[in-house]
Parts: sequence; structure tokens; C-alpha cells
Amino acid sequence: MSNTTLQSSSDALNEVECWFYVLKNCNNVQVTITNYGARITSICIPQQDNFVNVVTGFSSIDEYINATAPYYGATIGRYANRIAKGQFSLNGKTYTLPVNNGPNTLHGGNGFYDKVWETGEVTENSIALSYHSADGEEGFPGNVDVKVVFELDDDNQLHIHYEAETDADTVINLTNHAYFNLNGVGSGLITSHMMEIDAEYFTPVNKTQIPTGEIAAVRATPFDFIEPATIGERINNDDEQLKIGNGYDHNYVLDKTSEGALDFAAKVTGDLTGISMEVYTTEPGMQFYSGNFMNGTNVFKGGSKDDFRTAFALETQHFPDSPNQPAFPSTVLKPGEVFKSQTIYKFSF
Ligand code: BGC
Repeated sequence: MSNTTLQSSSDALNEVECWFYVLKNCNNVQVTITNYGARITSICIPQQDNFVNVVTGFSSIDEYINATAPYYGATIGRYANRIAKGQFSLNGKTYTLPVNNGPNTLHGGNGFYDKVWETGEVTENSIALSYHSADGEEGFPGNVDVKVVFELDDDNQLHIHYEAETDADTVINLTNHAYFNLNGVGSGLITSHMMEIDAEYFTPVNKTQIPTGEIAAVRATPFDFIEPATIGERINNDDEQLKIGNGYDHNYVLDKTSEGALDFAAKVTGDLTGISMEVYTTEPGMQFYSGNFMNGTNVFKGGSKDDFRTAFALETQHFPDSPNQPAFPSTVLKPGEVFKSQTIYKFSF
């Protein structure tokens, strides 16, 4: 790990060593990863004589630990997104999870984002990280072993491969929570970015942001990004769903060629830089979150704050609350099975 920056150990992490590692490709794209939460801490895109960083992040591990918004760039598990009332049943047994978002559990409680991951194979353009989540951790059943591989290729694609195995029936939903601003972190609102999402349907939510179970058409609603539109042009429409999320904070039901296929999901372009990002995923869903709860309390590397709607996330995932919604694609993982999932963020500049 020749280009690793080691960070001094921290009490909160029981004196475990954390580091930042930079993946590079032949076009000089640079992606920085840390083992604290298996996070993406920056993605630097070369432009003229400089770099534009398009992912929000902090400059030290301590700032990640102390941030009031804990998910920046992190791998999210065991269950990305919300589980209603912190409860689900599996094989007739009810499991209770910590509630951390109104009456619900968000992003697995005190989940994978807050763990120090073990380092696996490292090359100039890839890094593997793993984490053992013990039976009962945050209320979830089964000992689960998770592996995440980040790989940057010479076509400017950042591949994220997830794998998980369990020794008892459990539920799993993994994603990455990078927040992007394709005009560059610190350049202001993301509302003028062009957004395209390959989804005819989304899952509307109740007042606590739990899916109602309905699979609703996006056509003729502000949720329609089948034809590219700016994020901001309908975000303040008088729409019940937008009011609940304070903007976009919804799961899209991606149009799939077949179940589990690695399909195009979205394309976003920064209006000031022209930097584009395409998203491809094997997952059936994707949360489009337009940074509506960002409130300016944390200071990113470079000095800008996490102000309202200055970054967006596209979290590829299974649908929120699937353990309580039998009609949604299953998130159950059984012993002997290997959970596999892949997402690509591809950059053009
Ligand atoms: C959720 C938002 C939440 C955000 C926190 C998103 O995945 O949908 O409601 O505020 O994560 O980073």
C-alpha cells in the first residue's frame, strides 16, 4: 500500500489503524478510499491543469467519526434504507432493531459505516475490504461476512462489488452512500444538474418515509426523469411525495432487462463542468436523495459546508422496508448462498 496515508488511531475505534488509499487510472482519475466505514472519501476528475473533486468528504478520520451526518461515502449495511418501526419477522421470529430515524431504523442502525474494515487484496487500481458482522449485531440474526471491492478501470468506471455470506437466515441490503456534486464539492446547489433515471415506477412513501407498498408510475409526476430534466425544475412542486421527502428522497424501481442484470440506471451531468456520471447496477432499486436534510453543520475538506441540496446520492439497493413487504424483491439471505451485487459509477469529462 505504497500511497497510503495513515491516520492516528482514535479512542472511539479502540486504537485501530485507519488509512486513506488512492486508486488511480491511466487518465489520472483518482478515487480515495478509507477502511473506516469502507468509504469513498473523494473522486477527483482531471480538468485543464487541475482536479475537480465530485464526492463530499472530510480530511481526517476523526472528522468522519465526529460528523453529525455519519453516512458520507460509506458502505451501508446490514440494511440500507429504512425498516418500519425497527422490526421485522423471519421464519416466525420477530427481530427488533435500534430505531434511529423517527419511528424507523435507517441504514442498519449503528451500522457498517462506523466499523473499521479489514484490508484484503490491494493493487494500484483496486482494493478489497471485509467485515465480520456478528450474530445479533444491531439486532440482525446470523454471523455475516461482507466483502466490498472498489476497482477503478481505465474507462473511468468505479466498480463496486459486494459479497456476503451468513450462517443463519437473515436480511441484507448493501449500498454506497457517496454524495456527489459534479460541478465540484463547494460549488453550490446541485439543482441545475441534468438527471436521467431509467425507471417507469417508484415506491411512494408514508409520512415516516416507509413505502406504502404501491408501485406508482412516474409519468406525469415530478418523479419522471425518463427524459433528462434538471433536478431543480420540479423539486418545489406542490406534490405530497416531494413534501414528505423535502425534495427527492425516494426509491426508483429500475427498468431491468432481467433480474440481477447489470443495467443502466441513471446519468447525471454537472452544468458548470460538463462532468457526467452514469450509474449501472445489478440491483432492482435506487434511492435518489437530493440532499434535502443537509443542514450546513459539517465542514468538508476544502472548507465548504454540507449545505442544503449541495450534493445528491444515488443509492443502488433493494427496496426500502422489503423485510416487511412480501411483494417486494426478497432481501433474505440463507446459509450456503452468496449474496452478490455490483454497481458502477462511470465518469465522462
Ligand atoms: C435517506 C435520507 C437520509 C440520508 C442520510 C438517505 O439514504 O433516504 O432520508 O436523510 O440517507 O444521509
